[in-house]
Amino acid sequence: MPSRAEDDELLLRLRHFQSDYFPLHQQRFQDLVEQGQHPKTLFIGCSDSRLVPYLLTGAGPGELFIVRNVGALVPPYDGSRGLHGTMAAVEYAVLALHVERIIVCGHSHCGAIRACYEGVPDEARALKSWLELAQDAVLPVQACPEACRRTEERSIVLQLERLMDYPMVRREVEAGRLTLHGWHYVIEDGAVHVFDAQRGAFVPAASSTHTGTGPYAPYVEHDGQILID
Ligand SMILES: [Zn+2]
Repeated sequence: MPSRAEDDELLLRLRHFQSDYFPLHQQRFQDLVEQGQHPKTLFIGCSDSRLVPYLLTGAGPGELFIVRNVGALVPPYDGSRGLHGTMAAVEYAVLALHVERIIVCGHSHCGAIRACYEGVPDEARALKSWLELAQDAVLPVQACPEACRRTEERSIVLQLERLMDYPMVRREVEAGRLTLHGWHYVIEDGAVHVFDAQRGAFVPAASSTHTGTGPYAPYVEHDGQILID
């Protein structure tokens, strides 16, 4: 613990925020207090420090409702995995904030996905249990960069599927008021690959015509296979 305030880097950053950044955006923050927040997007992202939602989307205060967790995973709505802040965030974002988009954003070199292959310390009981939410995306192969990359992508689609089991999500999607978006951020390229439900593949944003699945039909399996009923 630094003994002098001048040596406490975090403290200096807090002061810097209020003295240098805040005055430039004061009106915006005041409006958001007076009018409340009306974000259009729920962003479910991995906790990884290299994933910076505001940089990727160019968003500012009031634009993103964010929930982050290890692996950008979505628990099942049936409550079988206990109480989850992520579930609460989805319910609040859809029912109270009426968001128009839900983004599930994973990324390259995800430690959570790698841990699905390599395991976690015995003491990390919650982590071990939590990672089971990605288990259906894991491939029956040895961990390697290619397998991890594919699993990262498959997990994102798996979480989108699970979101569709949330009654309020399904209802809003089917009514055309909500779209689901699967993103895979490739850290080393600065590229976000967006899930294209029609093509059953992740497509670089640079060559994609949209950022999401649009109306959730046809139904897409987590391995990318498209089922048309
Ligand atoms: Zn991650």
